[in-house]
Amino acid sequence: MMDSLLVKNVLLDGARTDILIENHRFRSLNAPEGTVADEAIDADGMAILPPFYNTHTHAAMSLLRGYADDMPLQKWLRDYIWPYEDKLTAADIREGSRLAVREMVKTGTVFFSDMYFDIEETIRIVQETGMRAAIGVTFVEAHSKSQLAEKLDMLSHWSDPSGGLITLTVAPHAIYTVGPDLLVRCSETACRLGLKLHIHLSETQKEVEDCLREQGTTPVRYLDRLGVLGPEVVAAHVVHVDDEEAEILAARGVTVAHCPCSNMKLASGVFPYERLRKAGCRITLGTDGDSSNNNLDMREEMKFAALLAKVSSGDPAAMPAEEAFAIATRNGAEAFGFDAGVIAVGKLADALLVRLDDERMLPCHHLLSNWVYAAGSSCIDTVICNGRILMKNRIL
Ligand SMILES: [Zn+2]
Repeated sequence: MMDSLLVKNVLLDGARTDILIENHRFRSLNAPEGTVADEAIDADGMAILPPFYNTHTHAAMSLLRGYADDMPLQKWLRDYIWPYEDKLTAADIREGSRLAVREMVKTGTVFFSDMYFDIEETIRIVQETGMRAAIGVTFVEAHSKSQLAEKLDMLSHWSDPSGGLITLTVAPHAIYTVGPDLLVRCSETACRLGLKLHIHLSETQKEVEDCLREQGTTPVRYLDRLGVLGPEVVAAHVVHVDDEEAEILAARGVTVAHCPCSNMKLASGVFPYERLRKAGCRITLGTDGDSSNNNLDMREEMKFAALLAKVSSGDPAAMPAEEAFAIATRNGAEAFGFDAGVIAVGKLADALLVRLDDERMLPCHHLLSNWVYAAGSSCIDTVICNGRILMKNRIL
């Protein structure tokens, strides 16, 4: 078992240095000459950067990549995705999860927050890989009483087989698939067990209109009225919210998982980045599933997020590279309570080694600018999670 790793000659904050990782954490960012470790990597010509934390996805939906494109969300779900999903077996989920996890690691992601079914299969694949994950136990109103009991029981009695890398979340799918009583029950369960609550929220105009008609108010106000909103909530999409709703989300400490590619591809709407940022919301980044993206490349997502913020506000200074980088990395780690997401002594050792000799990284006037606006995931040479190498020389 490898307990220490020395990353030699790596570029950090503009200077070459040796970095020592010990017992899963960064021990020294300037290790002295002669430092020895169980394993050493010569990172000459590479920079070290925090990796990506994907806060909203559906891993096994990699199987539906390219299956149904170019149509609105409700039609896409009702006529294509849900009928296809009805036929998926546990073995399918395992293979879909495997494909997704390979894609994520190769594109520099060390953590994903998932929402799907047959989650034992996904958990097994995550465990094999050595990455981090928050796996959602998904709730929909259509569950039978015994299915519901089984899910609640799993949440109460599950123990992490990976020794701290995997956690469960309570994942009511959305307000249009889960009724108020079950939403409240999910919320109580999450709070009681100290777990995150992961939900789709205010994704489309139709969701807002239906909620107005059925509940007499908008989705955020509806959840707030039910008492569901709190710091444990990670709400995906949050496209259609007004100023007051942004303030409610901020006041309750809700994390907003922004999924720009999915929102653009399904034409769900334009994420109100400035509104949520000004209100003080914690904003993280997610890819959503491969079926609506159509990849899990967080570096690409980060660029789309920045470009969308600029074009939608008419302000080229909106979401500068540093902010896009933060929402894709440390904000996600923080939201899920990981002591990680930055390269600093004492932090959990999650990192990427990025090739500086790749054409897309040259010249290097500004490393972060290249990383956000120019690079591709093929610039990633090595992926480290919890002090362990998941990929080296682009080989998993
Ligand atoms: Zn989703």
